[in-house]
Amino acid sequence: LRFDRGQGWHTPRIEPYGPFSLDPAALVLHYAQEIFEGLKAFRRSDGSIALFRPRDNFARFNRSAERMCMPQLDIDFCMTALRQLLELEKEWVPHSHGTSLYIRPTMIATEPVLGVKPADQYLFYIILSPVAAYYKGGVNPVRIWVSDDYVRVAPGGTGEAKTGGNYASSLYASALAAQKGYDQVLWLDGVQRKYIEEVGSMNICFVYDGKVVTSPLTGSILDGITRRSVLALVRDMGYAVEERALSIDEVLDGAENGRLQEAFGTGTAAVVSPVGELTYRDRTVRLGQGQAGKLTMELYDRLTGIQYGRLPDLHNWIELL
Ligand code: PMP
Repeated sequence: LRFDRGQGWHTPRIEPYGPFSLDPAALVLHYAQEIFEGLKAFRRSDGSIALFRPRDNFARFNRSAERMCMPQLDIDFCMTALRQLLELEKEWVPHSHGTSLYIRPTMIATEPVLGVKPADQYLFYIILSPVAAYYKGGVNPVRIWVSDDYVRVAPGGTGEAKTGGNYASSLYASALAAQKGYDQVLWLDGVQRKYIEEVGSMNICFVYDGKVVTSPLTGSILDGITRRSVLALVRDMGYAVEERALSIDEVLDGAENGRLQEAFGTGTAAVVSPVGELTYRDRTVRLGQGQAGKLTMELYDRLTGIQYGRLPDLHNWIELL
């Protein structure tokens, strides 16, 4: 789908996957005017295909578009386009347990200009890719390295938008963490470098004194759809939820004195992932002795139960194809 200022969105089409041409001066290549989304389609045991909260993804896409000076898309149009695409490509939604079809809507600025300004031309496209089960034979708790030399975003920046620049700014610390043998980086706030923000591609929650504590939506973390869903499930189960600033010291002390019982990440790709280890400067704490926590696994089962149709969809999160 293409956009020209003055004309609006035009020329919708479905094409086989492959390279497309772009002017070498396209604004996206210089100034990173780009946004994307990530959602999944699940194959159920009766063969039907379920989308999980797709409208919430497109609503977030529009919020990212606004922050990045990009045009809005009509959510009903996006849903129709996605349904048509999936109807054609249904065979790509894998059948085996725990697998899904990952859906990546993307918008890029295509206008060829050298000056810094919002583009007058855009391309919107959706790519699909089958993905394997996140847990390949047993749960694998993630090892996390806390960065305070580097920050991903700062207040007033683009942290809340799902835009490539946020990921570009996180590459260096992520590569350092990988070199040291860690799976992901946990980012602290960009001002005091003290309060928990989020992990590379997940929001993070802690079970602290029996309550579920997670960072508030301050504008610098992604408003994760899995985060929202998991917090709703946690409340359904009767647990208290606290969205509050939580310092890295509180987390490490809690892990050492037993007040922090579990930590888990939430995300479309990661689903609900146990955190097994956290390192901050010269301090390392381990959680759960290589096992996922009880609440972590319960939330994983409940969320995937709704996605794959084993459990009733009490919150109306599912749209069947
Ligand atoms: N934070 C970041 C930086 C992410 O990239 C993601 C993955 N989209 C998340 C959190 C989790 O968001 P969601 O649950 O909507 O996938």
